[in-house]
Amino acid sequence: MSAMRSCAKKPCAAPPEATIALRYEARTVVVGDLLSERDPNLMDLCRSHADTLRAMVGWRIEDRRTGPPSEVPVRLPEVEAAAG
Ligand SMILES: [Zn+2]
Repeated sequence: MSAMRSCAKKPCAAPPEATIALRYEARTVVVGDLLSERDPNLMDLCRSHADTLRAMVGWRIEDRRTGPPSEVPVRLPEVEAAAG
């Protein structure tokens, strides 16, 4: 069993749902799906902290998460229907 993982934002103790990688050369904060193995070079964040992550000045955030799209808004077919 691996050591207990929790969100890197102390004292947040929520289970991590995303792994954050810093790409210094591209000045990009990459938000990815949680890795199954903890990488000491990366940061694990819970969902709410990953969602509210703010990039440093001059950096941008790239969200590459592909997890369950439960909160992705559903595209409604009525929009097209209304146009016709
Ligand atoms: Zn957290």
